[in-house]
Amino acid sequence: MPDEVAVTHRASSKIDLIIIGSGLAGTAAACFAVTQGLKVAQISASLGELPFASGLLDLLAIYPRQEQKLWDNPWDGIAALIDRSPSHPYAKLGVDTIREAMQGFLAFLEASGLEHHGLPDGNVHLATAVGTLKTTYRVPQSMWHGVGALQQQLPTLLVDFYGMKDFHGRLMLEGLRHRWPTLNTKTLPFPMTFPGVDRQNLLFAEALESPEVRAELADSIRPNLDGAQMVGMPAVLGVHSTAEVIADLEGRLGVGIFEIPTLPPSVPGLRLQETCENSLRSQGVQILQDRRVIGFQTDGLQCTGIITGTDSWRETTEADGIILASGRFLGGGLAAERNGIIETIFGLPVVQPSARNLWHRDRFLDHRGHPVNQAGLAVDNDFRPLGPDGKVAFQNLFAAGSILAHQDWIRTKSGAGLAIATAYGAVEAFLSTAPRN
Ligand SMILES: Cc1cc2nc3c(=O)[nH]c(=O)nc-3n(C[C@H](O)[C@H](O)[C@H](O)COP(=O)(O)OP(=O)(O)OC[C@H]3O[C@@H](n4cnc5c(N)ncnc54)[C@H](O)[C@@H]3O)c2cc1C
Repeated sequence: MPDEVAVTHRASSKIDLIIIGSGLAGTAAACFAVTQGLKVAQISASLGELPFASGLLDLLAIYPRQEQKLWDNPWDGIAALIDRSPSHPYAKLGVDTIREAMQGFLAFLEASGLEHHGLPDGNVHLATAVGTLKTTYRVPQSMWHGVGALQQQLPTLLVDFYGMKDFHGRLMLEGLRHRWPTLNTKTLPFPMTFPGVDRQNLLFAEALESPEVRAELADSIRPNLDGAQMVGMPAVLGVHSTAEVIADLEGRLGVGIFEIPTLPPSVPGLRLQETCENSLRSQGVQILQDRRVIGFQTDGLQCTGIITGTDSWRETTEADGIILASGRFLGGGLAAERNGIIETIFGLPVVQPSARNLWHRDRFLDHRGHPVNQAGLAVDNDFRPLGPDGKVAFQNLFAAGSILAHQDWIRTKSGAGLAIATAYGAVEAFLSTAPRN
């Protein structure tokens, strides 16, 4: 270490559990840990995939991938998956534990002000911005009317805005025409313009926090209703007070309003991230953002702490246990190098195809998925990553979320479920296995 590096030791208050990552897996782990009364530090370099995610909480929609079997009841699908894919992370948990995890996290979201809806034991279908159907488990309140409108084929007006990138009612309508014949669409001027700016979605959403902007928007929608009972709009209906924005527009127009998920950046993803962060902070979780973990310290088979910092400063943080929820390539937990895929913090072995030319299949949309998407960390039944010798790398290091091997959350539509359920499993395993000082 160069002489001029400033080193700080974070030991002023004892931490039980360090969570690396503030994507959905790290967030869920922090939620479960703080609920158990643990003192938690959540450390992350970025917000992970959450700002890109649709806000929909998938559990399992498709399994097996190659058969494209669609499950209306995700629990039946998970039971089949556990039976046929014993190395999948869900198989380490079982249906009842996954249920507990989902119920716990949904209750946390509701208590934090972000209610989700769905069927007691079923998946629901909703229309996407490109006119396809998406099967998911839980839907943010702001999108829930869209599920009923599609199911009952209610007369519905899709509204998009001149100059808005990436959301076009016409495209959506064309894709859905045969399923939803009572759908109509209208492009309207938005009450404000944001010329030449990226991240437009957030600007639209911020503008709609203003009652004056909403009044003007409602005035331009009203003459176009033409008997519509519902109005669907891109998911930009407010950032912090979406329920209020929707209730206000519904009151002004006398119809139901729902949001339609957009392409990234996703305002519902940002809402989810912001709501969880505020709630975790209020419950005492130490949230340290823009901190890259660059090393760790050990004592035999215990990982006693992590080192964050840059070339000019370093800080060590110690705890009884660590949950690694550092994601895949986008999040930074995995990196593709010339000789293969590496795990970026602990140098843990990554399960992966034997050669780089086997990472992808020839056809991008091959139903079997690409082998590289199943690469990741192998873990024991307590979610502890395995070292090069096939034994647990550290007694008190656990992994959760998309970094885990033997799963393909994109193809099976199980992103949120995998993150939440494995986070629950990792926290429970920490509580039952790690020696506590
Ligand atoms: C475009 C898109 C759409 C999606 N849509 C859906 C959807 O419709 N439904 C659904 O259920 N799921 C969806 N998901 C998936 C969902 O967002 C999951 O949460 C995600 O796949 C798994 O998150 P994760 O927490 O495992 O990893 P990530 O979200 O990638 O988080 C990784 C975290 O680890 C941190 N990290 C990594 N390395 C370090 C380091 N060295 N030091 C400090 N911090 C570090 C990162 O900064 C980040 O905070 C979508 C994802 C994307 C990208």
